Amino acid sequence: MIKGSCLCGKVKFEISGEISLMANCHCSMCRKNHGAPYVTYAGVDASQLSWVQGEDLIADYQSSEKVHRGFCRECGSNLPLPGESGGQIFIPAGSLDDDPGVKPQVHIFVASKAPWVEINDDLPQFDAFPPGFDD
Ligand SMILES: [Zn+2]
Ligand SMILES: [Zn+2]
Repeated sequence: MIKGSCLCGKVKFEISGEISLMANCHCSMCRKNHGAPYVTYAGVDASQLSWVQGEDLIADYQSSEKVHRGFCRECGSNLPLPGESGGQIFIPAGSLDDDPGVKPQVHIFVASKAPWVEINDDLPQFDAFPPGFDD
């Protein structure tokens, strides 16, 4: 089990099994949403995520036609959204409390990366979603 929680600690969740993809997303919406140079996501199957407490505290912000973003009403932390089922979901890796045992494997949406951010590793870079991930 990999545990995760928000800043105030009222929302807690767990991930069972392994993380299939860890990606750094450089898109402008993730940057705004997190106030960060880029956001690292842990991709898991929706069935791997279970809620320990506080899922009723999570608010839903729809940032585009297909993308909903969850956050704690109490402390504002970005979180996975309850009720997502089927397929892959992306959990903000900064909300994890345990070492997930994987490290970022790709940079995605590099075409919209912040001009002040330099990528200093040799991981593959994709302008948008990596191949096979496009919905
Ligand atoms: Zn919170
Ligand atoms: Zn993004």
